[in-house]
Amino acid sequence: MANFNLKIVTPDKEIFNNKCLKTIVRTEHGDIGILPGHVNYLSMIDIGFIKIFLINGDTEIIAVSNGIINVGFEETVIMVFTGESKKDIDISRAKNAIKKAEKIISSSNKNSDILMAELKLKRALNRVDIYNK
Ligand code: ATP
Repeated sequence: MANFNLKIVTPDKEIFNNKCLKTIVRTEHGDIGILPGHVNYLSMIDIGFIKIFLINGDTEIIAVSNGIINVGFEETVIMVFTGESKKDIDISRAKNAIKKAEKIISSSNKNSDILMAELKLKRALNRVDIYNK
């Protein structure tokens, strides 16, 4: 069956590097599906998920934060600041991060702190969402 190589990396680790049949990614323009032979494409990735359709028929879902996707002829490369497979998500850590972020948002009067906390909250809520899928 037609397939292509998908590589997903963060600054400190390689999360995935293997053949797949299809992948769905949440870009800044909405969710897009990449199939073998997709035209070259570059886009920003939003906090969300990457769903991978493996060649053995299984699927894998990865929670990611912002990054970039580069679809090339030979390979699709996704670079994200953070990424965790569903099975690697520490749910109590994510819930704790939600509490910490909400506390900063409600108590701080420094805009930059609030902005950082809002992004932290969005990443943590996304992890909870993926964990529960
Ligand atoms: P925390 O306060 O829990 O560290 P954070 O928003 O500061 O949350 P991030 O900056 O999004 O964390 O991620 C930092 C690193 O920790 C990344 O390598 C990310 O993959 C990992 N990470 C963060 N939260 C979780 C989680 N709930 N489960 C697994 N790995 C996580």
